[in-house]
Amino acid sequence: MRALVITPGVADSARLEEIPEPSPEQGSVLVETLAVGVCGTDREILAGEYGAAPPGENHLVLGHESLGRVVSAPMSSGLLPGALVVGIVRRPDPVPCPNCAVGEWDMCRNGQYTEHGIKELHGFCRERFRIEPDRVIELDARLGGAGVLVEPASVVAKAWEHIERIGQRSRWTPQRVLVTGAGPIGLLAAMMGVQRGLEVHVLDRVTEGPKPDLVRDLGATYHIGVVAKACANADIVLECTGVAQLVFDVMQCTAHNGIVCLTGISSGGRKLEADIAALNRAMVLENDVVFGTVNANRRHYEAAATALCKADRRWLDRLISRRAPLESWQDALVHQPNDVKTVIELKANDDKQSAHFLSDSVSVRNPLPEAPGHTGG
Ligand SMILES: [Zn+2]
Repeated sequence: MRALVITPGVADSARLEEIPEPSPEQGSVLVETLAVGVCGTDREILAGEYGAAPPGENHLVLGHESLGRVVSAPMSSGLLPGALVVGIVRRPDPVPCPNCAVGEWDMCRNGQYTEHGIKELHGFCRERFRIEPDRVIELDARLGGAGVLVEPASVVAKAWEHIERIGQRSRWTPQRVLVTGAGPIGLLAAMMGVQRGLEVHVLDRVTEGPKPDLVRDLGATYHIGVVAKACANADIVLECTGVAQLVFDVMQCTAHNGIVCLTGISSGGRKLEADIAALNRAMVLENDVVFGTVNANRRHYEAAATALCKADRRWLDRLISRRAPLESWQDALVHQPNDVKTVIELKANDDKQSAHFLSDSVSVRNPLPEAPGHTGG
């Protein structure tokens, strides 16, 4: 079967290769991959800056934002052939640490976790993969092709969960939210803010392309320019760019008891003059919190799937601004000006309705052409 593979540490090593079918020891659930989303982490791996092959191998199958259909699964898993699923990216560390031991692998303490398509586990950009039943999330069939957004949305769902837990330290009545960056993470963060009934402001640089309208169509307000003008006195900030100046600016723009959630990874090397004493004084005197967040556990994937099901499906369709077949993987990996989320399609979705996720009445799980059936268990 075909797979998109890279050699970790080697820039521009991506290639389409024939690899063996996944072996049963990789998991009792056989999944046919429908689509894989592309994100900044993939581009870092492609540049040779990040990523590790499984032990004893020199290549890594790319892809951590997945959508697939179950081909076969043990009866005991509760997964039926045709079920729409997303693979969970991170696996708990083998020790395990106190957090991994209770299913909070997103908060791993020792860094020995592994990640599909990133760190020591093959990714999902291959025609089929095997996985254990507890490593997948089953989606509502109505989510259709938008299900490929569940992984990025899981990271945002975790950010919101932690914001709300921090908010519970005292009486908390948030109203205004600032999101910096209108990429997929920023837009999903804004979507979840609107779903909570909050007044959402999104700050980005572009004046053209799909982003301004995507923000407005959520019922949020789109801004360009500086943080202080876009949204002074925000109760909550989700910083989704990692741009040093923005990180510093948002820390100073919050209302009393403000919460700033950092989700962007800075590339480093940028030095800013900053008055840390003044920042400290403001944070102390206003009870401000600044925290970072990464990855997601099962609870967050489930929250993400629920949030996406509540969203307008046409809006989600527009968030996936470009789809490229596996043969055209080079096109998908090169960022173009009007891209929001680019997706590599491994298999044309045979469910036309869910491929376009337009209809509210999609409920039929189309059977797969390959004689599906339960195996094992
Ligand atoms: Zn751990």
